[in-house]
Amino acid sequence: MNYYSTNRQVQPVDLPEAVIKGLPADKGLFMPETIRPLPNLFFERLPGMSFREIAGEVALAFFGEDIDAATLQHIVDETLNFETPVVRVKDNIYSLELFHGPTLAFKDVGARFMARLLAYFVRKQDGDNINVLVATSGDTGSAVANGFLGVAGIHVYVLYPKGKVSAIQECQFTTLRQNITALEIDGTFDDCQALVKAAFLDNDLNGRMKLTSANSINVARFLPQAFYYFNAYAQLLRRGAASEVVVCVPSGNFGNLTAGLIAREMGLPVKRFIAANNRNDVFLQYLQTGVYTPRPSVQTLANAMDVGDPSNFVRILDLYRHDHEAITRLISGFSCSDDLVRETVAACYRETGYLLDPHGACAYQALSESLQPSETGVFLETAHPAKFRETIESILHEPVEIPAKLQTFMQGTKETVELSNDFAGFKAFLFRQN
Ligand SMILES: *Cc1c(COP(=O)(O)O)cnc(C)c1O
Repeated sequence: MNYYSTNRQVQPVDLPEAVIKGLPADKGLFMPETIRPLPNLFFERLPGMSFREIAGEVALAFFGEDIDAATLQHIVDETLNFETPVVRVKDNIYSLELFHGPTLAFKDVGARFMARLLAYFVRKQDGDNINVLVATSGDTGSAVANGFLGVAGIHVYVLYPKGKVSAIQECQFTTLRQNITALEIDGTFDDCQALVKAAFLDNDLNGRMKLTSANSINVARFLPQAFYYFNAYAQLLRRGAASEVVVCVPSGNFGNLTAGLIAREMGLPVKRFIAANNRNDVFLQYLQTGVYTPRPSVQTLANAMDVGDPSNFVRILDLYRHDHEAITRLISGFSCSDDLVRETVAACYRETGYLLDPHGACAYQALSESLQPSETGVFLETAHPAKFRETIESILHEPVEIPAKLQTFMQGTKETVELSNDFAGFKAFLFRQN
């Protein structure tokens, strides 16, 4: 299947090119040319299917023209070595827990899948090693590093701002070794991003080594997120609670929500979606006014959603042909202040015993305020609360239990390469490696 650019200024490309390139040259985003609805038989069988079986069939609908079924199922099986359970929190509100992967956040699914798909295409082409450059302010680096850990033929360089990433986040990409190199940059996150961008534009470097990004806008990272929406629905069917399903997604760059919208286009019976934001709520402003005005992000407790110009917004516009009315019919918005995050975490824990993380709290609150009695609400719990330990402990005044997976990272030995924020030094370092 081919992938077109949302800007439509370049020719569509095939899947290997879309995955290896990541971004079209016209600065749009790649979208699949067809979104194939799944047959009725699939939905009839859904309650009896495992997560891996469900994901296998959804993956075939996306990638079946480009990869044989056995290889694709193998990639799915290696990606999904954890479950995404649906847990009832209160009344008709359920949590879809996406934090049971290696870094305890939902980005694990996309990162693990992308690593394996990229390795497959690189092997099939010329077999040259490929180098992934990723700039991170925390969470993306850990998901990508762990997703790509040990995958043959790929080396990952994680660039992060020295002293500006939490200790829990830092240990998740600085203790791994093997094919993961952590670069501690004396600068800001923006400096890290500028270094990566400059590397992609540098002719010497690109002549010497194959470079790519593992950004969340890559189709191989974003489309697989559709898997767990189907899996959530299967679990609701098994519980007899699958009528009028409303899905609420804590959103930053809107990749996760877009994957849910695509799942719906494939036939998943979702009545409506809610995009839950923190104070970075340009999407809510768009819904209310029809005008999209990006603005600089502000720092909040739900910091993985501190995005002022969501990259996947253009994909949502493209899906609904820029029809504001169609978008507002299906999606509503919500803006959650830090004070409301605190109140929500405390109240939910007090009333139900369920511990929310700050991102899930935005979504839980959005559902609580708008869900009708006839509806079934599911919010995506995108990260384990222990990842935001200080915040949660300051709200609840009691210690948060750290899962074994996180403790293992915290016991590892940090190994980084320290670099300044100047490009010449970064380039010289990459040359020495290759
Ligand atoms: C990345 C992230 C989000 C936002 O996801 P998008 O796909 O960028 O909208 C929400 N919550 C957590 C915990 C994240 O890490």
